[in-house]
Amino acid sequence: MSTFPERLLEGYQSFMTGRYTAERQRYRDLAEAGQEPHTLVIACCDSRAAPETIFDCGPGELFVVRNVANLVPPYAPDSNYHATSAALEFAVQSLKIRQIVVMGHGRCGGIKAALDPNAAPLSPGDFIGQWMGLLKPAAQQIQDSQLMTGGERQVALERISIRNSLANLRSFPCVKILEDKGKMALHGAWFDISTGELWVMDPKSGDFFRPEPGLA
Ligand SMILES: [Zn+2]
Repeated sequence: MSTFPERLLEGYQSFMTGRYTAERQRYRDLAEAGQEPHTLVIACCDSRAAPETIFDCGPGELFVVRNVANLVPPYAPDSNYHATSAALEFAVQSLKIRQIVVMGHGRCGGIKAALDPNAAPLSPGDFIGQWMGLLKPAAQQIQDSQLMTGGERQVALERISIRNSLANLRSFPCVKILEDKGKMALHGAWFDISTGELWVMDPKSGDFFRPEPGLA
C-alpha cells in the first residue's frame, strides 16, 4: 500500500501552524462569503512558475488556470472537453473577473517541444503534440529563421505564444464584448525563472518590458 507523500504532509503541517494560523479569519470569511478573486491568471504547469508565489498573493486573490505552456485555445463551442475554456467561462461569467493575465515563463518545456521538429510523442495519444499544435504556425516560422540561436528561438516563441493566447482570448464572445465596452483588461507577462525577472507586455506594441516598481 502506498502512503501519502511525506513531504506534502510536512508542508501541510507547516501551512497549518504558519499561514493558516496567521490568516485564519481570512479563510473563514472567504468560506462564508465565497471567493471574489480580482484576477484570472493563465499560467504554465511548470513547478517553477507558480503565480501565487510570484505575485505573492493570498487565498481568494487569484483564480488560476494552469496548463502546458499557458495556452488559450480558440473559442470552439463543440462537444470536445475544453478544460481551459470552461475555467475561463466560469471566471468571467460567474465570478465576474475583469482582469486576465496570460503568464509565460523562461525555459518552458512545452515551448521547447513545440520548437523541436524531431520531438517524438511521449505516448500513443500524443496529447502534448496535439495541444502544442496550437502554436504550430508560429513555431514553424521561428524554426525557419536561420538568424536566431536556440535560446533566442525559445524566448521568442514563449512571448509570441502569449500574444497568440491573448488573441485567442478575444475569440471568446464573453471576453471580446466586455473588452470592447472597456470593462475587461487583458495582460501578458513573462517570468524569467533563472533571474526572477518579470516582464510585462505593452498592450499596444506587444513588446515586453520590465515594469518599474510602483509604476506598474
Ligand atoms: Zn512552461
